[in-house]
Amino acid sequence: MECYYCKGAMVRGKTTYTMNGRGYHLLIDEVPAWICQQCGEVYFEGEEVDIIQDLIKTIDSKLAKAQLAKPKPPT
Ligand SMILES: [Zn+2]
Repeated sequence: MECYYCKGAMVRGKTTYTMNGRGYHLLIDEVPAWICQQCGEVYFEGEEVDIIQDLIKTIDSKLAKAQLAKPKPPT
């Protein structure tokens, strides 16, 4: 696998996933991902993306129900 940006070599590793701008901040440590050796670009694979999307959906609906935050649609 090669990096989309710099064509550098991607290696399997773990990174911190962060997400902002939906009325809350999400930070997950040690998410498996492909990381570019050259520029540090990070790619998440299908399974991890699915799990994170699921979490976000759950958080959004629970926050909306509790009116703790106002989730914004993804941009
Ligand atoms: Zn790169």
